[in-house]
Order: sequence, then structure tokens, then C-alpha cells
Amino acid sequence: MTGLGRIELAGSVVELGALRGDPGRYVALCRRARAEVGHGYCQCVDPWPRLVLRARNERFHVARWPGDADRHHPDCVFSRPVSALSGRGQYSADALADTERGVLVRLSLALTAVSVSASPARAAVPRTAGSRARGTMTLLGLLHYLWESAGLNTWRPGRPRTWSACAGRLVDEIGDVVVDGDPLAKHTFVVPPFDRTRHDVHLGQYREFATRLGGPRHRLGLIIGELDGLVPRRYSTQWRIRQLRDLVVYATGELSDRIGRSYPVAVPRLDAPPGERVRAVGVYAVTRNPKARGDHLTLHDAALMACTGDYVPIDSRHELTMAAALTAAGRRFLKPLRFDASRDLVLPDFVLTDEDPPRVVEVYGMTGNAAYDARTRAKRAHYAATGQALFEWDPTVSPELRVPRRGE
Ligand SMILES: [Zn+2]
Repeated sequence: MTGLGRIELAGSVVELGALRGDPGRYVALCRRARAEVGHGYCQCVDPWPRLVLRARNERFHVARWPGDADRHHPDCVFSRPVSALSGRGQYSADALADTERGVLVRLSLALTAVSVSASPARAAVPRTAGSRARGTMTLLGLLHYLWESAGLNTWRPGRPRTWSACAGRLVDEIGDVVVDGDPLAKHTFVVPPFDRTRHDVHLGQYREFATRLGGPRHRLGLIIGELDGLVPRRYSTQWRIRQLRDLVVYATGELSDRIGRSYPVAVPRLDAPPGERVRAVGVYAVTRNPKARGDHLTLHDAALMACTGDYVPIDSRHELTMAAALTAAGRRFLKPLRFDASRDLVLPDFVLTDEDPPRVVEVYGMTGNAAYDARTRAKRAHYAATGQALFEWDPTVSPELRVPRRGE
């Protein structure tokens, strides 16, 4: 028997959505499964892949079995894109390791002052001879990791995706990550979706997170949320985050400009016409001056990711048009994420996953630029050599974009 979204715990079948929505109700069942069987099962394919049951804060967190992501049904939440469609495989085991204890991550930025004192050792981690694997993960890499693990870089026809859906899945993935020996959840605040009736609860959670910051155990904290806009002030720039209006982070104008230049597509442009508006989701490393009053936080660094209205990541405005057209045509697709991999890694702009084999999608937009044209030729040659079907769009040649329906 198989079924997407169903898991088996100690002989009982449970909907994953129900378990994630109300983990407290299933504590006894999870505990029994762990004691008697040692693990749970995902029923997405036959034979059922195993699932890890990890106790966290008197609740159980269900996660993919280390190294088993490829064994799940492609539509299962525990599956992940194959390594050819992700920059995930470009890290060394020091930076990213899927283990029984959880997903161990080493960030390029120290969250606790304790690891700051240990940083010479960290800097000395050898890059294996001849390998260009990265030994640490940047904030952007972490954002891509969480987005991909949560399945948010995929789109399937259905209802629009809300921040509420994203936040719930991110919290689940964060529960599985350990950074420098500490649970990532301890250092992270995922901005909850706006809810008038729960505003005080959310604000309380935020203040609890904010007041911890600044001490040696919490040098920096991470906020994950959607950027509303940058508002220049006299001495600094205000970073406004969506969903929780009391959440405002301050950064120097210099830092704001630097981040803005690094993520030109993602920084919200209030003057953009409606069809060209992108969402910007960010991970913000923040700190607090213990002497400062209130809970205003200071930005230390940030990584941003431009997304469609449904929170599917994109790299350019032409990709925004393509993603909108794919969605309108009822297509199922995936956006490969680069993580910290260099441009040498060939990743398609999108992949149509409702065709077998999947078809790659390329969006061109800078034809006439010699380096860009050379790269385009290399990509085409790569797809031809590997026998992959290609759907291309060059807006400079044909402004009109027509996406074929499935099977057309
Ligand atoms: Zn599965």
C-alpha cells in the first residue's frame, strides 16, 4: 500500500499534515515507534523508505533518513532534486552533512561568540586537495538549503502558496538542522504569518528571540522573512519585514547599499509595474546592543532571494515572466538552486517535472554580450550532449512567450 503524504508509526497510519499541524497529539505514538521499531516509514513508494524520529522540545520531528532522499516518490515532501539539479552537492562534509543526529551545517558566519574564539581552527579546515568543495555555507547557501529541503523551489498546479505555508515548512526543516553543534532553531526566528488574533503571541515570541541577542551564546540571531522595503532614515536604513509590522531592523546605509548591489533582482522596487513585482525573502543576521532600549535590532549581514508571488525563487525578471507563464499553463516545475556553487556548475533555469524525462527550460536575456553568448552556447551543447529536451525563450528575439501545455 502506498500513499503520498501518509506515514506509518508503530503500525498506525498518520497523515503527515496532521502530525506536523499538531505534533503534541502524536508524541506517544512517535515515542512507541521509536522504542519498538526505531523509526517511522513514509508510504510514498513501495518499499516504504524509513523516516527518522527525533525528539525536540518534548515533540517529535519526522525527517528523511540520512542519504535516503532519492528513495522517495518525486512528489513526496521528503524527496529532493537529484544532485544535477542543485548546488547542494558542492559542499564538503564539513559544511553540510546528513547524519543520524540531524543535518550538520557549518556557517561561514559565527552565531555564538564561543565559536568566534574557535575561528582560527575553522579557517584552517583544509580544502581536500584537488577538490573545490566549500568548507562552509553562507547565509544564501542556508536559505537555499532550507527552501529546497522544504520543497519550496517546486511548483505544482493548485492554490496560490502563502507565507503561512512557507513558514510552517521552514520551521519543520530548521528543526532538523544543527549549526556548529547547536540546534539552528535556538538561533532563528521565522516570521509567523500575520494573524490579528495571534499578534500578541507572535510579538511575544519575537521579543523573546530579540532579548536573547547580544550575549556570548547569541552573538547573532537569524530572522527569516519577506522583505517589505528599505526606508532610508537620517542615520541608517530601516529594513521592514512583512507579516509582523513591529519587526524593524536597522542597518547602516553602507551595508544596505552593499547588500542591495549583491541582490539587484531581489531588493523590492516599489516603482515596479505590477507584473514585474518580485517578492524578496531574506535571511537576516541580526544583533542587539544590550544597552539599547526597545527591541530594535541591528543588521550584521543578509542574503536575499527574489521569488514569484508564490514564493518560487527566480534569478531575473525574465524568469519571473517565465515562471508566471509556466504557472498559467498549469505546468509542474522546479527551480534549481545554486547554493554557494560557482557559475561553472551548469544548472537549468527551470525544469518541467511533469514530463518524463523532465525537460529543461532556459531563459536568455542578454544576447549580444560575448561572455553571455559563449555561456549560452556551452549550455546548449551540454543539453544536446546529455540528450535533454530543451524549451528555450529569448525575449530579445521573441517578446511573446508561449508555453506549451503538458503533452503538447
Ligand atoms: Zn516519501
